[in-house]
Amino acid sequence: MIPYGRQSLDTADFHAVQQALRSDWLTQGPAIPAFEQALATRMGAPFAVASNSATSSLHLACLALGLQPGDSLWTSPNTFVASANCARYCGADVDFVDIDPATRNLSAERLKDKLVQAKRNGRLPKIVVPVHFAGHPCNMEAIGALSQEFGFRVIEDASHAVGATYQGEPVGCGTFSDVTIFSFHPVKIITTAEGGAALCRDPAIAAAMARLRSHGIVRGAELTSGSTDPWAYEQVELGFNYRMTELQAALGLSQLAKLDAFIERRRAIRRAYDDAFADLGQLRLPVEREDVRCAWHLYAVAVNNPAWRRPLFEALRAADLGVQVHYIPVHTQPYYRALGFAPGMFPAAEDYYARAISLPMFPAMTDGDVATVIDVVRKAVHAVCR
Ligand SMILES: *Cc1c(COP(=O)(O)O)cnc(C)c1O
Repeated sequence: MIPYGRQSLDTADFHAVQQALRSDWLTQGPAIPAFEQALATRMGAPFAVASNSATSSLHLACLALGLQPGDSLWTSPNTFVASANCARYCGADVDFVDIDPATRNLSAERLKDKLVQAKRNGRLPKIVVPVHFAGHPCNMEAIGALSQEFGFRVIEDASHAVGATYQGEPVGCGTFSDVTIFSFHPVKIITTAEGGAALCRDPAIAAAMARLRSHGIVRGAELTSGSTDPWAYEQVELGFNYRMTELQAALGLSQLAKLDAFIERRRAIRRAYDDAFADLGQLRLPVEREDVRCAWHLYAVAVNNPAWRRPLFEALRAADLGVQVHYIPVHTQPYYRALGFAPGMFPAAEDYYARAISLPMFPAMTDGDVATVIDVVRKAVHAVCR
């Protein structure tokens, strides 16, 4: 089976983890700040705060931006549930903004329409979470302008977009947002097994996320009592244990050195697929806008007739391609239906979902794997999509 995504590890990665395992520190040692510094430098952001998952980092970012019960957070329905759940962890409400069918990203036009209406009703969001679906950055300039006009904060869910660029700048540099979140799950662009990070420009937001990551505890100059006891620590708020380990950070540092090569390989696979499927009128291929460099976390096609999706999916699985569907719209999940959402509310996301299949896409694919996927997909499309 060729999966839709998987990690790419080499002997340098194995060596880095073994070195961390043999060191004095298994957690809370030097590898974590080293990884954070390398991430911040690579992405052009002053601060990076690593954690044990993107889900944790989303939660930390929401807390650091002051999200509370009574507030609301808006995100895309075409995402993993974690992009919305972070608001629920804070007791806040969730709402969704429908997608742009071309990029499958949260639509800045739909966002503007919804903000105008929300302003009339006095229900403006505190935070908007654009999700860079498949590694294609959202229209951040427009979303940033709306955040100024309507007074909300922006957390980019860049779980798919490590190594992508927008208007020539790395995703994560924070030109149009308050915080950017990365995931290092093995199917993502670089991996730490489990892991995530939050990048930002504001030192107070970075400090809040770092404090909340480790129980809400402060030491040294931050002690409110001014204590000089050498053992002193104070818990000043209710935090969590969302820390990354030294093993994970060592792996992350080793993986980060290969980020550019990973993106190049993903982009080459994308070009091969685009060329091979260009004549298949049954499929809508993913697009890349001129002002972005997509990280191609996913290569997601949409079938012209939704009735073809399931038989094509089954034919591809039967031929040992580990295809997947991204995403079941979050508002149609039972948990969100119980909060009042229903199918029909975000038709563009639902229409895309009804057609979507993600093909194998990861840098460790060989040219032979790519040729196999192309051959299997072409045959299955001809057999099924008629
Ligand atoms: C993978 C993913 C997450 C969650 O990442 P974890 O590191 O597994 O917590 C959040 N949002 C999106 C869009 C993702 O793809």
